[in-house]
Amino acid sequence: MLRIARCCVALFALSACFSLAACSAGAGSGGTAARPASAAHSYPYQLTESEWKTKLTPEQYRILREKGTERAGTGAYAEDHRAGVYSCAGCGQLLFKSEDKFDSGTGWPSYTRPATNRSVATEVDTSYGMRREEVMCSNCGGHLGHVFDDGPAPTGLRYCINSASLSFAAGGP
Ligand SMILES: [Zn+2]
Repeated sequence: MLRIARCCVALFALSACFSLAACSAGAGSGGTAARPASAAHSYPYQLTESEWKTKLTPEQYRILREKGTERAGTGAYAEDHRAGVYSCAGCGQLLFKSEDKFDSGTGWPSYTRPATNRSVATEVDTSYGMRREEVMCSNCGGHLGHVFDDGPAPTGLRYCINSASLSFAAGGP
């Protein structure tokens, strides 16, 4: 009789042990952390990659669609001081005006502000070990360049833009 009772206690202890193990295993494997959704912009002007390649020169495609950078001093507009407006080479949206252009000495066309406060979109860019503010066309998302806070008055900003991303049209302000 005593032996049976001991056996029952042992079995009870054994089953309690199993249920405890199962419980802790369940807690350990459950609950996968939710990942944040991609913060990618959605732009009104959309083309397929093959349409972009047809529309743009290889240099424009590399810069606008692949976030490339033209070599300093090689672009068409760094030293251009004519009066006129600069539009997106990808979609034609008005981006900058000559009245906001200044000689930054960097070898890239530089502006204190966009043509309107809706012309461009910006996004933090941490590529190449730097923290920069990328500037894109707000209509097609094409890469234009970067904006820095070391520009002249009146804004103190320097929009450093690739000539290849721009299309110039001469004309009075
Ligand atoms: Zn555009």
